[in-house]
Amino acid sequence: MTASTATAWIAESDRDESVPKQPQVIRTPEDMHALSAQVRAGGKRIALVPTMGALHAGHLSLVDHARGKAEFLVVSIFVNPLQFDRDADLDAYPRTWEADYALCAEHGVDAIYAPTAPAMYPDGFATKVSVSGLGAGLCGAHRPGHFDGVTTVVAKLFGAVMPHLAVFGQKDYQQLKIVQRMAADLNMDIEVEGRPTLREADGLAMSSRNVHLSPAQREQALCLRRALDKAQELARAGERDVEKIKTAAARLVEGVPEARLEYLEVVDAENLAPLAKLEGPARMALAVWLGATRLIDNDDLN
Ligand code: AMP
Repeated sequence: MTASTATAWIAESDRDESVPKQPQVIRTPEDMHALSAQVRAGGKRIALVPTMGALHAGHLSLVDHARGKAEFLVVSIFVNPLQFDRDADLDAYPRTWEADYALCAEHGVDAIYAPTAPAMYPDGFATKVSVSGLGAGLCGAHRPGHFDGVTTVVAKLFGAVMPHLAVFGQKDYQQLKIVQRMAADLNMDIEVEGRPTLREADGLAMSSRNVHLSPAQREQALCLRRALDKAQELARAGERDVEKIKTAAARLVEGVPEARLEYLEVVDAENLAPLAKLEGPARMALAVWLGATRLIDNDDLN
């Protein structure tokens, strides 16, 4: 990236909104940093939506929200090897660059930050960003090193993009809370906003991993939403005993032939500590395997 490329963007910003813009593609942290420095020097607000690509309507809901909150919108697309605990999962992760680029163009994205793995993690890379406590339970208990991989890459994305605002999905609720903690603890001066989970019409949370489900598994995947519905129904009816809620919800997963329940927890919505009684704001979260595909979901329980 040269300074003239960034200047070119600023000059283009006044053009006809009905013509989709062609987002710039940035491949290295240095180029991203230079572009963001130019944008900031022009007094513009920067928003970032971090993703691993294979964009779907859930991602795009974050993009559309962020588009309304900043003059310069960056979507990052990086399948981060550090956060995968299984090589097979990393290899099988869907990669759909052309469709992603077209969607970013349609949704008014200014720049796609899609660094290569060697640019992100060159030889000698030795830093790990780790948030303790919040990452201990839920997904953290079952995916060793996963959240350290997430916080390390998000810290690097924040460092290169220098956003004023970063938008994350509540679909990955534990990740959202961990990133908010990191940004606050490290005085990053970035607003980290969480947005609601977008679902298919039948209630399945949208996920890049849903493409791996067979038609039978796709049907069985509804057990996650059904378990959440059951828990919400009991909580609304006045049940306060978390064990009873968990047992009733888990039954809806355990009755499904191919489903294997990895965890189902009810936690404090802020500090993610497991609860025995429903008192303040609470969140139920679960992870379910359907064959080789791991699905997660969560919702509030108030
Ligand atoms: P991913 O590409 O899966 O790493 O997700 C990138 C961002 O999109 C994360 O902040 C996710 O929480 C968010 N996201 C993923 N699925 C959904 C969804 N169904 N609704 C809203 N946000 C989502």
